[in-house]
Amino acid sequence: MENLTSSSQAIELEDRYGAHNYHPLPVVLARGEGVFLWDVEGKRYYDFLSAYSAVNQGHCHPRIKQALIEQAGILTLTSRAFYNDVLGPFEKYLTEYFGYDKVLPMNTGAEGVETAIKIARKWGYERKGVDENAAKIIVADGNFHGRTTTIISFSNDRNARKNFGPYTAGFVKVPYDDISALESALEDPAVVAFLVEPIQGEAGVFVPQDGYLTKAKAACQSKNVLFIADEIQTGIARTGKLLAVDHENVRPDMLILGKAISGGFYPVSAVLADDHIMNVIKPGQHGSTFGGNPLGVKVAMAALEVVKDENLAENAERLGVIFRQRMQEMVGKSDLVRLVRGKGLLNAIVINDSEESSTAWDICIALAENGLLAKPTHGNIIRFAPPLVMTEIQLNECCDIIERVIAKFETRG
Ligand code: PLP
Repeated sequence: MENLTSSSQAIELEDRYGAHNYHPLPVVLARGEGVFLWDVEGKRYYDFLSAYSAVNQGHCHPRIKQALIEQAGILTLTSRAFYNDVLGPFEKYLTEYFGYDKVLPMNTGAEGVETAIKIARKWGYERKGVDENAAKIIVADGNFHGRTTTIISFSNDRNARKNFGPYTAGFVKVPYDDISALESALEDPAVVAFLVEPIQGEAGVFVPQDGYLTKAKAACQSKNVLFIADEIQTGIARTGKLLAVDHENVRPDMLILGKAISGGFYPVSAVLADDHIMNVIKPGQHGSTFGGNPLGVKVAMAALEVVKDENLAENAERLGVIFRQRMQEMVGKSDLVRLVRGKGLLNAIVINDSEESSTAWDICIALAENGLLAKPTHGNIIRFAPPLVMTEIQLNECCDIIERVIAKFETRG
């Protein structure tokens, strides 16, 4: 392998030999620890993306690292052709942690979503009595649930869909945060599930009105429709509670988890549900070679212990209030920042410029030059999601950097 000595060399290699399916900021990272990342040249950055909320526990958390190293020397993969001695304890741990009867472990978030869709459809045919091949799942406009062919079939993102058809049928879109639209769609007896993000992360951190999730769950329940929460980005303490639905004390019929469930060490995702739903799945009907492997589940258990032992939800809640206060002060003074929104440490600012402008991107480049890494999502929105192990002093230092950079753009304009 080539030994990289400079960022430009690394960028050239990715450009030359890798598919161009991402548009990264021109920063080449070589090391991470806690809330910090370092580039190839040794420059230090605050991470304000946390690998899209997969590294809530901070980079290279020593306890998760230890679990990985220990298990890597014992047993890593057996496939599910046999039992292994850590999957059962993990399943017990996870179901008790989140309060469900059963779990189905997979690897990536998109696989978790696909799993939930399959379970919901099968439940619809076998328990609800929907005619075969007629099941419909309601989804929200602006959703992001991954990039498989089925998932992009119900996305609104032109770029994610164009020329990837034909699309999977059986999905109905309703506006997000609109309870009467949901209620109308639920009138169709072929509907088996409502799949929703409790906060739409990728769309630009859209927080629904208080009570939306409670009403949506109740509306689903009254029509014998499963309420499925995709907490892949919002879960695991990110929004100031263990789950974002906990802000409204809503219990989804099916819960999809991924990303931070393994603290950034290993892809692990999971779907949780009670027996009357999960038991529709029988041997051979779903699975994955790596799903539930000993290495992944050991990592996930350590990552979830860290969340509880280090009170990450409480820290996210407390620091989130400070962050939004500081950003709100800036909104008051600035013409460039239109608003700040979010919950816990999942926040975004909206830049006062057209969605097509490069201002948000340019601000992210300037933030990087000033030692803070964030990325625009959807044109003029910048998402801010640091690791949840951040201290108040560090958070205030980061707010100072953001304010300074925004102020410089203001004087330029
Ligand atoms: N669902 C949500 C809400 C997400 O934010 C993401 C990723 O950003 C996914 C699903 C897909 O997860 P993955 O990229 O691990 O497939």
